[in-house]
Amino acid sequence: MSQAGFTAPLRVLLGPGPSDVAPSVLRALSTPTFGHLDPRLVAALDELRAMLRTICATQNEATLAVSGTGTSAMECALVNLIEPGQVVLVAVHGYFGARIAEIAERCGASVIRVEGAWGRASDPERLRAAAHGQHVDLLALVHAETSTGVVQDLAPMRKLADELGAMLAVDAVTSVGCMPVGIDANRVDALWSCSQKGLSCTPGLSPVSFSPRALERIAKRTRKVQSFYLDLQLLLDFWGGAHGYHHTISSNLVCGLHEAARLVIEEGLEARFARHRTQARALAAGLREFGLELLVPEAERLPQLTTVLIPDGVADAQVRGRLLDEFGIEIGGGLGPLKGRIWRIGLMGGGATRRNVLTCLAALKVALAAEGFRVVGDGLEAARASYAAS
Ligand SMILES: *Cc1c(COP(=O)(O)O)cnc(C)c1O
Repeated sequence: MSQAGFTAPLRVLLGPGPSDVAPSVLRALSTPTFGHLDPRLVAALDELRAMLRTICATQNEATLAVSGTGTSAMECALVNLIEPGQVVLVAVHGYFGARIAEIAERCGASVIRVEGAWGRASDPERLRAAAHGQHVDLLALVHAETSTGVVQDLAPMRKLADELGAMLAVDAVTSVGCMPVGIDANRVDALWSCSQKGLSCTPGLSPVSFSPRALERIAKRTRKVQSFYLDLQLLLDFWGGAHGYHHTISSNLVCGLHEAARLVIEEGLEARFARHRTQARALAAGLREFGLELLVPEAERLPQLTTVLIPDGVADAQVRGRLLDEFGIEIGGGLGPLKGRIWRIGLMGGGATRRNVLTCLAALKVALAAEGFRVVGDGLEAARASYAAS
């Protein structure tokens, strides 16, 4: 240990999360710690909930943030909604869909897992067929599948859930703050997210939102939620009710996420979503001009996460290592069946900038050349042309 205290290199975070944290959010995080029952904290929770409702386009009273990362918010939604023996239909076309199925199984559900190709959206018809006309309690899926870069259209899934008599639970961990999630417009019954992707805060506080219908279902549970920490009723009592002690929420994280949410609202949702689309288009234009191929067809592509196929003969780890060591840039590798086959480039929240797109393309060109891959065209010029056209 050095006497100088802990240091870490300064990175440019262009992976699947975390994304870069704005200076004003870092300052808010360093607000001297105060108590979880302090009147200022109680007021901050109210303000934060209101901002989260705006960002997620919902009137849901039961909108709050779980102390934990995105997975804890996923677990919160599922442990509260599911009782043992219930039928849960899960669309699995990537790593995080599989995680939903895994948690639903641990809740004692009878899980119908419908596997789709990694790199494409799930087909509602295949889910309908897999249900075989039986009653389904919950349809659960990932809106923005971060392992593949695919967006799942929610409207047809809501329609399917209605036909099956099911509630709709949506993983929006990577979509909140980057693209519309429309909780109320899509009548989503439970939605979860995180702080460190589209909201560009540090990990540790994860938004969840439940519809009035979901609250009714939870009120009718025949047995207690097995998790004390994630029991929605207890969390609601702390966030919105008597504000009695449930757990020691971190005031630092509340301050940080409060400022991050304020930045989102200050920018304006439409402007922010448009910025993500503009940056993604420029990045895609540059990558394709280099002669690289994208995994996902354009209509199903996420703006905040681009997945690119690693060319034959190019070593995944060498390229990512060089980007990190020489340029301080972090991009993501593939997960599961896509390990070693794709890179995942995130332009999330505050990270979706022209500077990041052009820097990433320039660095990637150098790292590819070191692996003997000669780019075909001028990707930077193609990106700049894309901006000029938009
Ligand atoms: C990142 C991610 C998660 C998990 O979030 P953690 O913060 O890592 O726990 C879940 N679902 C999706 C789609 C994600 O991208």
